[in-house]
Amino acid sequence: MPTISIASKLFAKEFAKDYGPSSGLESFVAVEQLLQQYTSNGTCMSKLGQVGSSYYVSLCTSLMARAHELLPQTAELVMVDAAGGLDRQRHRLYLLVTPTAAGGVPIGAIIADSEKEEVFSTALEALITCFPQQKAFFGHQGPQIFLTDNDLKERQGLQRLFPSSKMLLCQFHVLKAVWAWLCDPKHGISKDDRQEIYMTFKSVLYAVDEPKLNSRYDQLTGLTALEDSTQCSSYFDKLWCSRWDWATAFRTSLPLRGSNTTNYIEVAFRILKDCVFDRVMAFSLCQLVDFIVTRYEAYMEKRLLDFCNGRYGKALLRNMMPAPADIPDSCISLIESGLYSVISPTSGSTYTVDLQKGFCTCYIGASGKLCKHASAVLLQADIEITSRYNIVSADAKLSLFKVATGQSPPKDWFAPLTASADNLVHIRMPDGTENSNDSTGRDACESSDNHVNAGTSADSHTTALEELLSRFENFVSRIKQGLLESPATFTPALDQMMSNIDKFASTETGLLSAMHTVGKYSGLESVVHQRRLNSSTAGFRRRGIQIGVQPTAVGRRRHTLTGKRKLTAGRPCGTVLAHQSTALQTHDYTTFGTMPSHKRKAPHNLQRCVYSNIGLGGTKHAKLSIV
Ligand SMILES: [Zn+2]
Repeated sequence: MPTISIASKLFAKEFAKDYGPSSGLESFVAVEQLLQQYTSNGTCMSKLGQVGSSYYVSLCTSLMARAHELLPQTAELVMVDAAGGLDRQRHRLYLLVTPTAAGGVPIGAIIADSEKEEVFSTALEALITCFPQQKAFFGHQGPQIFLTDNDLKERQGLQRLFPSSKMLLCQFHVLKAVWAWLCDPKHGISKDDRQEIYMTFKSVLYAVDEPKLNSRYDQLTGLTALEDSTQCSSYFDKLWCSRWDWATAFRTSLPLRGSNTTNYIEVAFRILKDCVFDRVMAFSLCQLVDFIVTRYEAYMEKRLLDFCNGRYGKALLRNMMPAPADIPDSCISLIESGLYSVISPTSGSTYTVDLQKGFCTCYIGASGKLCKHASAVLLQADIEITSRYNIVSADAKLSLFKVATGQSPPKDWFAPLTASADNLVHIRMPDGTENSNDSTGRDACESSDNHVNAGTSADSHTTALEELLSRFENFVSRIKQGLLESPATFTPALDQMMSNIDKFASTETGLLSAMHTVGKYSGLESVVHQRRLNSSTAGFRRRGIQIGVQPTAVGRRRHTLTGKRKLTAGRPCGTVLAHQSTALQTHDYTTFGTMPSHKRKAPHNLQRCVYSNIGLGGTKHAKLSIV
């Protein structure tokens, strides 16, 4: 029986074969080799560079490159944020994410060992060279808007490299910073005044137009608490100077599409920590890079394909699906191609919906969010026009499928199983032809199949097949060679592979799905094994240094899916009843007081702190847990 130290040394030796040492000069050689390997097989464009004593790695994987080319959203809105603590050397990871109907899609990543602005700027410049040339940001110089939170020091770097982009702040983070400032005892704001100041500032932030914004700001500066304290009035003066960055009034006609906070990127980081890293820190820079390029990529691919195939919670996407409104068809009239006028039956006022650009003249639709007028137009009109709205549609699924796989799906892939006259789905093909799943759909598919085949000559088809066969033979010969050279390791592996094939690939469909997934997933066996481990030792996850979870985050999580797997990290989630939630407090449905209710999502901490007039906590950790 070997001792633990022998086992750990053996492990370190084996690990170093793939990832190199965890620090020192040699670790860079390993990273460089890994990046070269990725560049040569086309999985990722990358740059490793140095600024003074700091270094950075800029990454643009093939999925990110396809997102640049295919998603018009990348030309509109990109969110940038940083996270740390993903590996043992505590590198900083910056992600660039664009929101789509299927959630945030990453379009670039930077890993750096320092927070210095010049390191980020140089890394960003290097990242731009990794993007697909001419096609980056959907063929634009940059996105129209960058949305970040106010803690991010790298905003200046972004602004310098993208001078024509607008830099906006996450509204939630602005409100959080204001409450933290008001509660700081150094600023001497009386406990009795805090809530009033905060609420007045909040009304300034959410004012819908400039006159309202100005009058509410006058109201704020007129508060006696502000007049008494010069420190407080100068703080709000300073905030007022940057009002273009946070006020809702200045966000009309910008394609924010409902994203006023950086929630998409917060989710992206949580996915990375929870699902990709399983809350275990990477050992070294090399492994961190490897995980982002391979595992995160595989996760995103699977996630996007799930969305394309309709595997998503409808409740989660209800803001992105056109819902029937009480607007009769007679109220909608076509002005010109893609431009509709909608008369609201309740107020009688007329709104103009630009379906192509994805805007409406009403208050909600002014920043590109799907409003009820646009919903009505989308439902009534024949959706032949590509709309910029972030909606769940055949068009969105088609482009996200291409982003995920790099291939076009079969023509009738997204058609519903049952076809009827009123749910005809028109799927526009890249060459401009249209396919509808009516009774002649099948013929149309076959003929267009032929059409595609006619484009490639028979000769090139056979050579491609020959090449494929020779690659397969090469694979088989590698196994044979391995068996001859090191039978001790290859024999049990082949034995396992053959018994897996007998077990899972006995039918044709089984064989095909095994061929599609070979080597890609860790397999059912290991999942079952892991579950068994989990149930036998309650609370056991993986060994290794854990990535921290914010103490109150687990309690606030909404579980849209039920399952046996327990989340054991963080503070245990308490039962939050409806009458404790301030949002629901006004509704007393019975004369006997409030009915015991279902479990609700825990109220947001910032909101709870404001209502109970308490600070966000003294330590940095407590402040972070508000996010
Ligand atoms: Zn509208």
